Amino acid sequence: MSADTNRKNGLFWTPRGGNNANDIWASCHTFSSVVENAETGKTEKTTVIVDMGQNEIPRSILGGAYEKVVPALDDCLAVSGCEKPENEAQAVFLTHAHSDHIAGIFEYLHMGVKLPEVYGSDYTIKTLRKELIERGIKREKWPELKTIGAGDKVRIGSMTVEAFAASHSIPGCFSFKISDKNASIFHSGDTKADGSSFLGNGVDMASYDRIGGVDLMTFDATATAMGGHATYESEIFDEYKKLFKENREKQIIAVLPAAHMERLATVISAAQAAGKDVLLNGGASMEKNVMALKLGGYDLQEKCPDICFASANSKKADDIDPKKAITITTGIYGEVNSPFVRKLVGEKSDFVLSDDAVVIAPTYGSPSEKIENLVLEHAPAGVTLIAGKDAKIYGSGHAQADDFVKIAEHVRPTTVIPIHCSRKMAESLNSLAKKCEYRTISEYPYNGTTVSVGRNECRIVSVKEPEWFGINHYHQADGVEKVEFDKCGDYGYSSGKMQDSMKDRQEKAFQKIAAFRRERSLKKIASMLKRGGYGR
Ligand SMILES: [Zn+2]
Ligand SMILES: [Zn+2]
Repeated sequence: MSADTNRKNGLFWTPRGGNNANDIWASCHTFSSVVENAETGKTEKTTVIVDMGQNEIPRSILGGAYEKVVPALDDCLAVSGCEKPENEAQAVFLTHAHSDHIAGIFEYLHMGVKLPEVYGSDYTIKTLRKELIERGIKREKWPELKTIGAGDKVRIGSMTVEAFAASHSIPGCFSFKISDKNASIFHSGDTKADGSSFLGNGVDMASYDRIGGVDLMTFDATATAMGGHATYESEIFDEYKKLFKENREKQIIAVLPAAHMERLATVISAAQAAGKDVLLNGGASMEKNVMALKLGGYDLQEKCPDICFASANSKKADDIDPKKAITITTGIYGEVNSPFVRKLVGEKSDFVLSDDAVVIAPTYGSPSEKIENLVLEHAPAGVTLIAGKDAKIYGSGHAQADDFVKIAEHVRPTTVIPIHCSRKMAESLNSLAKKCEYRTISEYPYNGTTVSVGRNECRIVSVKEPEWFGINHYHQADGVEKVEFDKCGDYGYSSGKMQDSMKDRQEKAFQKIAAFRRERSLKKIASMLKRGGYGR
């Protein structure tokens, strides 16, 4: 796929992933600036990539034939076996370190692609570096990693990219203002209008005032269908502190989403403020997150010395009576490797659960109701459950309606276009933006749609079926990891419109995959025979 940006003078935006028919995964966007050089008369093009995510549910594209699925960026990056890139990217900018925004980087490096320089916040770059090491990607393959701070402006060709602090659920999140001499775009990334943060990284509205208006704002529409504002960390802190104080004499179990590092810091701070001992017993994922925060410069244990890992063999851990303390744990979605969930379902677990414990479990929507059911079904009858969206313990990492209104008031866009959303979510932000008298574009800007951004109007200049790379990793007998990839189609995944011709093509793709799998299993058997058979 190539964006239709082969014209004189203009700023163009193309979503490559994340604007899907029914889900939000694989965020990736390209921005191109085309400028005619007044002296030479030649047209110069600058392209930057913002975020390189992976699809978190590879089963949703091509029936799960591939372990990893990432947006095909072979028109911006030199991928072996593909044509020379016509919109060669000069830089990659990262909004934050969630895998649906950065994990495509690892796959492109595995595919042997040389990436241009990568810019991100201190935390994002540290996380990226840690993951590159953990995934065994050799240093000579790494792109140049460049740390920038909020307020920094980076000049790339005819474009300027300026970073602004955003608030989401992990440290170091950015929104970007991307501009050239013709036009400007504010790209929100994942965000909400929360200035309070116990990790010290909230939104800074005053910095948005400096922008003085943009032609286009591409905005996180994941949760804007919800009224009100995303519950702020400061409100969540107050509510937890109140609950901790009210239940001072009892064991309190605070169940949190494993990846929500911001929330972990808020709840630990509330426990500290309530003067209770805190045990962290959330299994490997929680320990990994606390360690990741520490490596990224946010040492929770230093900030709150009263917290203690249940797994620590220390005098302090022995001194804490779990039945009188606050235990922070995981398992909000009923994850089976959470020590709390294991305890509930009667599997081996060191988790202590007293008969009159108070369980605080912020849940929203149907999949997350699972922990409620598990507690109601398996916990002792004296256990109290505080859950559900009515309690002020739930807070989304994404902007709700009022967050959008507030951020837009400061950024002052002429046109608003939804990103990071399904078609349904996009429609809801479109109607909200219209109500607030911003211009919108009538069509859903699904992956592959190129929008020309101008002073007076933003309009769709081309709609192309996007493509994806499907990737499989093989661990060979000699310990070397082999990576195979294919450029696959979209088959209506992005637009939700699977036409008959597409159905034919999908059928052909499935046949290709079946052949590919047969060949793969034959290869596997051959290599096993070479190694001396099965059972090694
Ligand atoms: Zn995110
Ligand atoms: Zn995201």
